[in-house]
Amino acid sequence: MNDSTFSVEELRELYRELILDHARSPRHFGKLEDMTHSAEGINPLCGDKLKLYLKVAGGQIEDARFEGSGCAISVASASLLTDTVIGMPVETANEYFDAVTSTLSGRPSGTVDLGKLRALEGVREFPARVKCATLAWHAMHSALGNDEQLATTE
Ligand code: ZN
Repeated sequence: MNDSTFSVEELRELYRELILDHARSPRHFGKLEDMTHSAEGINPLCGDKLKLYLKVAGGQIEDARFEGSGCAISVASASLLTDTVIGMPVETANEYFDAVTSTLSGRPSGTVDLGKLRALEGVREFPARVKCATLAWHAMHSALGNDEQLATTE
C-alpha cells in the first residue's frame, strides 16, 4: 500500500478499521509455554492489564504472545506488537519500542519504518489513550531487559 494514494481521511478510516480488527480478533493471544522472557503491563488509569510472553533465541524473537484484558486500543496495540516483532532481532524490537513510544508522545520516530503501526498514531489526539497504546511496548521493553518484571505506565 502506498500511503500517498490515500487522503488523510481515508487513512484515518483504514487505520480505525485496523485497530478495531485487532481489538476484536487479537493475533497471538494466549500463553506461550516455552517463553524465555515475560513481563506484565498495567495501566491503572484505564484498567488495562496484560502479560507479554517472548521466546528469544540467538538474539532473535522467535515467538510472542500476550494475554490479559483491556480497552480496544491496548489490545490492538499488543496484537500489532506481536505481529510486528515475531522473527525480529531483539535489537530491532528495541528500536521499534523507541520509535513507537516516541511517535505516540509526539516526538520524531527516527528512521524506523512503522508501517501499519502508524495506525496507533491516532491516539496522539487523545493524550489519556497514549498509555493504552504504549502499554504492551513498555511490557516488551521490560521483558527484554529482564526475565520477569512488572511494567507500568506510571
Ligand atoms: Zn486502555
